[in-house]
Amino acid sequence: MPDHGRGQKVKILYIMGPTRSGSTLLARLLNEYRGVVSVGEVVSIDVALQSCRMQARSRGDARSTFVPNDAAGGASRRFSALCGCALPLQDCPVWGPIEKSVFGDPPDYSPWSWDAARPGLVRFLLEGSGRWVERNGRALGEVAESVYRELARLTQARIIVDDSKTPLYGYFLRHQPWADVLPVRLVRDPRGTAASWSRAKPYAGIDGGHLPAHAAHTCSVDWLKRVALADRLFKASPVVRYEDFIASPMQIATRLLDATGIEVEPPDRDHAGAVRLSTNHILASNPDKFERGTLSIKPPDWSKVLRTRARLVVTASTLPLLRRYGYALWDGPEHRSPPFRELVRRGSERGG
Ligand SMILES: [Zn+2]
Repeated sequence: MPDHGRGQKVKILYIMGPTRSGSTLLARLLNEYRGVVSVGEVVSIDVALQSCRMQARSRGDARSTFVPNDAAGGASRRFSALCGCALPLQDCPVWGPIEKSVFGDPPDYSPWSWDAARPGLVRFLLEGSGRWVERNGRALGEVAESVYRELARLTQARIIVDDSKTPLYGYFLRHQPWADVLPVRLVRDPRGTAASWSRAKPYAGIDGGHLPAHAAHTCSVDWLKRVALADRLFKASPVVRYEDFIASPMQIATRLLDATGIEVEPPDRDHAGAVRLSTNHILASNPDKFERGTLSIKPPDWSKVLRTRARLVVTASTLPLLRRYGYALWDGPEHRSPPFRELVRRGSERGG
């Protein structure tokens, strides 16, 4: 039985990278290994829980009392009130007790401020990474420690997979004395992420019922910012390309877990070699968390979705990093991209 006392560090596999890069699929596969739990985007714990409270309030539910924080505005339109187990977060056997023990009853979300957990890039650079971590290590660090220790205690997992994706929150986590973090950089062809964002996506539990579409240039800026920052802050951390992951999902998942140094058991597979997805307690993330049955990863063909102008915008604006990660300049859907020589590479081997 794992020891989750205050003396032992919490093992966290932290997935970072642009949105729509397949992190939810990777997290769901990792969640099937015994001893591993995927918990979604912990950085947004405050917004997701407030979305749940706001929607309860609009239904006239008695449990709608809470003290909002600076991230509350529009929370119910941006984040689902539902956990991956399909229950409202307050009724989930994992997030319900965590909300009570960490934020109180009725909850006060102000300790998890937007500014502390998700600072602007300019501010981060101006303040200096060391000073930012030191400032937030005291207030946010204490609350975060309670969240992750409760997650470990309630799930009895030896590895917690957090797919918050933002490099800055990963940087903050890595500098916490109570956390032992393996950062993983996930990268996808930016034309693939732009194609995924080009259509609204149905998402149960969000006011309005779907995530809105985003323009190609918005996706490019997000992609560039996150990939460049992760490159800079996590040079020696493993890199996984989405295209390689969908080609060999089990191989990638096992190699990442091996890199944590903790032994865990792989999931059972059916006669066709497929992994059955069980229920999960993924917070926020992508609506793929609700999928049930066999894990199915279909390589999408962005070249059929993305219009020529959008394709030009994304290709031109991400060019230097596009080539660095081995993506073709123009032709070819992502499943025809040349595979990496190694499925999971360490950045240090590239001289980074
Ligand atoms: Zn749940």
